[in-house]
Amino acid sequence: MAKKPINLDANATYGLLSEVVEGLCSENSLTFYNPSSIHSGGQRARALIEETRELVLLLFGVSAREAIVVFTSGATESNNAAILAPFMDKNFKGFNEHSNEASLVSSVVEHPSVFEPIKRLELMGLRVSLVGLRNGMFSADSFIEETTASTKVVSLMMANNETGAIFPVERIASAVKERFPQVFFHSDAVQLAGKSGISLSETAIDAVSFSGHKLGALCGVGGLVIKRSALLSNPNGFRPILFGGAQEQKWRAGTENVVGILSLNLALKKILPELEGRARAMRQRKHLLKQKLMTGLEDITINYDREETSLPNTLSLRVEGVNADDLVVALDLSGVLISSGSACSSGKPEPSHVLKAMGLTESQARQSIRLSLRAEEPLDNINIAGEKIINTIKAMRTASCYQPKNGVIGGEVAYER
Ligand code: PLP
Repeated sequence: MAKKPINLDANATYGLLSEVVEGLCSENSLTFYNPSSIHSGGQRARALIEETRELVLLLFGVSAREAIVVFTSGATESNNAAILAPFMDKNFKGFNEHSNEASLVSSVVEHPSVFEPIKRLELMGLRVSLVGLRNGMFSADSFIEETTASTKVVSLMMANNETGAIFPVERIASAVKERFPQVFFHSDAVQLAGKSGISLSETAIDAVSFSGHKLGALCGVGGLVIKRSALLSNPNGFRPILFGGAQEQKWRAGTENVVGILSLNLALKKILPELEGRARAMRQRKHLLKQKLMTGLEDITINYDREETSLPNTLSLRVEGVNADDLVVALDLSGVLISSGSACSSGKPEPSHVLKAMGLTESQARQSIRLSLRAEEPLDNINIAGEKIINTIKAMRTASCYQPKNGVIGGEVAYER
């Protein structure tokens, strides 16, 4: 059997937790009935879904009195729903009656599953503002500057999947909604959930999206947590984007993904009691790897290096003289999985819009890699992967006759240049 690669690409997909694999294999198949059926199989599936809803509420520190959980096919669907639903006409005639005067505010570093529905709305005539980074961070002021009395939706991610930067979403939501209470404030919480405690209760955030496979569960399941206050204050303002059966309290048609929801249930039962310990384990592995790379290599730069506002598991690095896509392939051959700072669109890798928004040039973005670690990765694997990364980069630099810049050893923050 092929040797298992070392996964330093956990932000792409975490990989199934062993408790999830065991639970899925041992689960009595009675669970896998249609939760809308009224027989005992259906009731059992329904009970599993309701229990998982409670676990999701715990993950986001909010009660069932304050928020609803709508299960979806993943964060892409959740983000699409959060962006599009507030603008849907109740008779599905496109925009609802106020939308041509409305606007939407988001940021320049969002995931495509937020950007792309926004682009569609913009094509339909909606006014859109994308707030830029100042000194690598977002401020409440820059969001307030873009928001007006006609802004319907503001969406800002909690943490960035590429750089690991954590944004002050709670503070920004509170400042925005204090001035503009009509705003529906959404946040893509995909990368922060499970890596840090989140408490939506008492915040001005109205809705968050999450994804099962970033939490150690299966792909193809996720959800949207929506505050009841946001639904009540704007009863015509949030409409489903899928039409069909009355599942998920009519918020999302389609038979629930029971196996996916079971995997989420098992993952959340594992991680919820251990959130702090898991974040500590991630941070320890990140520091070990960072230390190793910084001492073993010249001319590498951490793209986002503010520890206190950084995901515990994510390291975005620029490696001078090396094409990141080539490095990904070379490391793959030696059994280490990482990702590069470019996203493949139409078969052509484009430099990351996030790194460019941070002030990196195209060529700097093309030299950037992302290392994202699992809490359960054995420390030995981190050492082995570190060695392999160092040796591979040295070999690539030698092959391309790279001239070192005389020992600029890491630590420099790119956007300060
Ligand atoms: N949002 C962020 C920040 C992500 O990192 C991802 C996945 O990469 C998504 C949304 C999309 O999640 P899903 O794969 O569940 O559709």
